[in-house]
Amino acid sequence: MAGIYIHIPFCRRKCHYCNFFSLASEKLKVPFIAALKKEIELTRAYLGGEPVNTIYFGGGTPSVYEPAVLQEILELLISSPSPVKEGNEQREITLELNPEDVTESYVDALKKTWFNRFSLGIQSFFDEDLVSLNRSHSAEQAKKAVALLLQAGYDNISIDLIYGIPTSTPERWMKNLETAFSLGVPHISAYALTVEAKTPLAWMIGKQKMPPVSDEMQVDQFKTLMIETLQNGYLQYEISNFCKPGRHAVHNTSYWNGIPYLGLGPSAHSYDGTSRRWNISNLSKYIEGVENGERLFEEETLTAEQKYNEYVMTSLRTMWGCELERKIYELRITNYELIKPRADAFVLEGLLRKHDGVYFLTDEGKLFADRIASELFI
Ligand code: SF4
Repeated sequence: MAGIYIHIPFCRRKCHYCNFFSLASEKLKVPFIAALKKEIELTRAYLGGEPVNTIYFGGGTPSVYEPAVLQEILELLISSPSPVKEGNEQREITLELNPEDVTESYVDALKKTWFNRFSLGIQSFFDEDLVSLNRSHSAEQAKKAVALLLQAGYDNISIDLIYGIPTSTPERWMKNLETAFSLGVPHISAYALTVEAKTPLAWMIGKQKMPPVSDEMQVDQFKTLMIETLQNGYLQYEISNFCKPGRHAVHNTSYWNGIPYLGLGPSAHSYDGTSRRWNISNLSKYIEGVENGERLFEEETLTAEQKYNEYVMTSLRTMWGCELERKIYELRITNYELIKPRADAFVLEGLLRKHDGVYFLTDEGKLFADRIASELFI
């Protein structure tokens, strides 16, 4: 099985914290779609005939396009929403949406497409937070977007929230979670606000036009997130992802399980089980290259050590845990003896738990996930 990711590189405006590749100008919207169609032709062989199980339109903001345009792309990728093998469930076909795009007419048009899962970039249900992040929607639009999708009969909905926003408070964060629960969405992704270099957010904090992001607030809000989601029947199946039982995102879970995927569009990454490629992060050059029959990308072949490190980094963050010993054996890595005592020391510290040879982060360990993973790297 394999996945396909399509990167749509346009946004209505740039959020202050964003370091994804996307442009606030829609000048190349039409040429981009032509180039994307060409890239699909150029990459037919990449997945080696593996059946495609999941497709994810992300960005950027895919909903800058009308659903019919996105459906045309889908029909070039697959011949029907059903998987190749009979008896399997439908493929998971996800579309990221910005709330301001989700109108009655947009949802009507979605009904004529094969999308069956929607991921809404809500971030907060408070206008003050949204304004401080330069988001292009309001809290009211966010609630309405979820309601419209539910009314249309779509129940496979995920919402993104951000914690640790300087304008947030413990009460607001709690209210954000309560609103999410009351809307009845089966999936929530919640990320800490990260101050990336060269973003307007970094500049504003540097110039004291915005208070710095507080580590203490982030830790408190993350703890509240873990407690409240658990009490409301959500599983923390990955450190930033919470779902009702059985409603995890198949596409994202495939990334963490090392399943091959093809990435289309500028800056999109692909992985074939051996090497990783990433398309050029320049829209004009991407279009020009594809028009000339050439994909512009960089590539690296992963060593056994890199595969091991990636496995540790991603698996530790999931509820399925990290099978250190199995991975070491599978990848024929020789210095396991150096790593195991480090993992066992984290167990003694209460940051990891070990069960049947599998290591899991404890709730306390989840606060230090990156440091723990990096100390288990080769
Ligand atoms: S909508 Fe998403 S991709 Fe676009 S600027 Fe905001 S955070 Fe970045």
